[in-house]
Amino acid sequence: MINKDTSTTGKKILVLATGNPDKVGEMNELLRDLDWEVRSFKQVAGDHDIAETGITLDENAEIKARFVRELTGYPALADDTGLEVDQLDGQPGVHSARFAGPEADALQNRKKLIKALEHVPDPGQRTARFRTVLVYLDEHGVRKYEGVCEGHITADERGSGGFGYDPLFRPEGYRETFAEMDPLEKNRISHRGKALQQFILDFRK
Ligand code: IMP
Repeated sequence: MINKDTSTTGKKILVLATGNPDKVGEMNELLRDLDWEVRSFKQVAGDHDIAETGITLDENAEIKARFVRELTGYPALADDTGLEVDQLDGQPGVHSARFAGPEADALQNRKKLIKALEHVPDPGQRTARFRTVLVYLDEHGVRKYEGVCEGHITADERGSGGFGYDPLFRPEGYRETFAEMDPLEKNRISHRGKALQQFILDFRK
């Protein structure tokens, strides 16, 4: 175990159980509202691959939170996210990171998604949602939160912001994809943003 202390500023430390710098950025932005010192897992413990062996988002988020808590001793916050496409019976879902294969990158995943929906030209039929499960773990146990963002899969990539499937996801009520949107606006309405807002409310009580 690495440490059990609070930070030098006396603030409670929270370790984010993700190696994805885009996620760390998004989560940090929202967690500014909590008076905790937020650190990424990489900052605290270096590079580690956490095997996401669960078959649900819940299980995977809990696996990541437990791994980080056991290794660092700090309270841990983990998220697992899936993109559920209705015309694909909810796929890629929990397999979103590996949709185009075990070593696939985000671009390959998006190309596979564009192809998989070629037979559905009607934009109204291309409904999907991002779902995030957030798991917080400390000495008192586990707390879970869920956030969902409904939307549509576009036929082509649009925008250069965000990450992952963002250039293909147009949230309900918007003309832009997540990748075309102001990052603060994405955070306000996104699956991860909504789950984090619940977490923050819980700890402000
Ligand atoms: P994980 O939660 O890191 O396992 O993410 C699963 C997959 O969903 C990865 O391919 C991510 O790139 C993608 N993903 C997660 N969150 C987002 C998001 O907010 N926008 C777009 N793609 C995302």
